[in-house]
Amino acid sequence: EAILSARVKGIQPSPSVAARALVSSLKSKGHEIIGLTVGEPDFGTPMHVVEAAIVGATSGKTRYTAGAGIEELRSAIVDKFDRENGIKSDLNTVTVGTGAKQIIFNALAATVNPGDEVLIPAPYWVSYPDIVKLYGGIPVVLTGDPDHDFKITGDDVRRAITPRTKWLLLNTPTNPTGAVYTRQELQDIAEALRPYPDILIMTDEIYEHFTFDGRTHVSLASLDDEIASRCLTVNGVSKAFAMTGWRLGYATGPAQIIGAINKVTSQSTTCASSISQVAAVAALNGSREFVEAMVEVFERRRGRAWTQLNAIPGIECAKAEGAFYLFPNIMKLLGCSAPNGKDIESDVALAEYLAEEAGVATIAGTSFGMPGYLRCSLAIEEKKLDEACARIARACHRLS
Ligand code: PLP
Repeated sequence: EAILSARVKGIQPSPSVAARALVSSLKSKGHEIIGLTVGEPDFGTPMHVVEAAIVGATSGKTRYTAGAGIEELRSAIVDKFDRENGIKSDLNTVTVGTGAKQIIFNALAATVNPGDEVLIPAPYWVSYPDIVKLYGGIPVVLTGDPDHDFKITGDDVRRAITPRTKWLLLNTPTNPTGAVYTRQELQDIAEALRPYPDILIMTDEIYEHFTFDGRTHVSLASLDDEIASRCLTVNGVSKAFAMTGWRLGYATGPAQIIGAINKVTSQSTTCASSISQVAAVAALNGSREFVEAMVEVFERRRGRAWTQLNAIPGIECAKAEGAFYLFPNIMKLLGCSAPNGKDIESDVALAEYLAEEAGVATIAGTSFGMPGYLRCSLAIEEKKLDEACARIARACHRLS
């Protein structure tokens, strides 16, 4: 115990990484388990991207690169932000990291002092509060209206701001709820921040292409120059191009913050994988056909699973606007007993019951700061998704 730092003792391992490990271990023991825990598209990386990486690897793109990334990639990122997000940047205000996660990690490392407060809307992506804590920051959790997909409003932000507020972390489309902030909702939040020019805003837009029912993603930094001047827009190729294992993320923001992120990179990972960077150039400069086809599949799955889950007594599921998860409310099932007499006293107990009794792995809402819910990933083929919903229905009917 004396070996470990107080810093690391103060955080928990990523629950989504832990869930992935649990599913693999149950499967390797021969359990027939359907994992709805997956946080990555169940698609292969597009072949033109893989081929670009092969050419890179065989033509000597195998060395350390600039910490901020190769110029070709930074240039592709500048074009991408301009073309798809309406954000102006240049080679010095974009950077590349080993996944969006590492950029978020470095940005917080570079800016958070002990006691600084970071506003995090709940339910949140599991890593935000723990990364903040690692640097002695204080996660301040905001909860929006459950009937409005938990989206926070300008008033929620106003109420939470104190002299110690350093950052607002916004994630749209949102993991785990699928909420997609509209331009108007973002403007409302921007107005709340207007009187506080020292507060930084991070927008995690990793699911930007995953929007349903004709919705479109809006970047906060595209609203106006003042907001853009203190906004770090984080993105990556993981989800849009089914490239989670390539570990390649990117961001744009104020030069000072990008410079500080690069400094942390220079003393930690040095640079992102050179081969992944070459692949990312092909991904960003290539067509959007792949991602559009993939999102269509996700939208169809969302519709099916949403209908099936809502038909289960005790489950109420909002129709995710984007990302690739459903986040059903299961509060009406709490207090029931399992056939073996076990009390289902929490979302965690229900998730355990479903894993053990139904062979369906989900992640309890508690992991995302929102007890009473489950996160169900849609990144699984339709037949298995249907089967998972049917199993959940049977297991829920057995509760009394
Ligand atoms: N941000 C959110 C909201 C995510 O859900 C994830 C992955 O699950 C990430 C960031 C991490 O992305 P990357 O693979 O680029 O590190």
